[in-house]
Amino acid sequence: ELSKRLAAVGEFVPERARLADIGSDHAYLPVALALTNKIEFAVAGEVVIGPFTSAVNQVKKNGLEQQITVRLASGLEAIESEDNISAITIAGMGGALIRDILAQGKSKNKLSGTERLILQPNIGEKNVRTWLMNESYQIIAEHILEENQKIYEIIVAEKVAEPLAYSETDLLFGPILSKEKSETFIKKWQAELKQREHVLHQLSLAATVPSEKIAQIEEERKQIEEMLA
Ligand code: SAM
Repeated sequence: ELSKRLAAVGEFVPERARLADIGSDHAYLPVALALTNKIEFAVAGEVVIGPFTSAVNQVKKNGLEQQITVRLASGLEAIESEDNISAITIAGMGGALIRDILAQGKSKNKLSGTERLILQPNIGEKNVRTWLMNESYQIIAEHILEENQKIYEIIVAEKVAEPLAYSETDLLFGPILSKEKSETFIKKWQAELKQREHVLHQLSLAATVPSEKIAQIEEERKQIEEMLA
């Protein structure tokens, strides 16, 4: 009953994890993982009252109140130190928002540095990877999948003593996805290339466009062309 996307996110949650699912909406992910006994405990965090109520109801309906705590909170503020969280999932949001949630959480000491981060940005994956690199995380796994005509990426990271530096190419395409070059990956970047070409064409018709903007999109087009070559 989980979407293919959320099931794929769940695959990266370690057995017996103590999970924080941030932006949990209906709490579908923690409920499914608790029902299959994959996780020991979960916090489902939601900042909006409607989804928060849906999450509370979903947990009740499944009789999981002992295992899943639903909290109304922004980002990682849903996490208490007594929770001993070992994995955090943040799925179905833009990459910039995921980055901001992680950065704010870190500044409020909500990250112990021992938890696995499983992140599924809908767009703007580069924001997420750049934050991870700057915070000494290593990307230990990546996955790309298509569901209902949409392509999703999953980025899994853990903090390490000697983190790798990622190139601009790694940050945009993913250090693992760009080596695998799966069919779905190629499909995604072919569409991204078309989109850049379309934008460049539109800009060429416009009266005034800042040249830096054109240069930036040209640069991205070049990067994508090289990746697909
Ligand atoms: N994680 C689920 C999934 O992947 O299917 C739900 C994704 S839903 C599109 C995004 C959810 O994140 C919404 O329910 C929204 O209220 C919540 N959200 C957005 N910003 C948040 C924040 N700062 N803290 C907690 N939840 C947030």
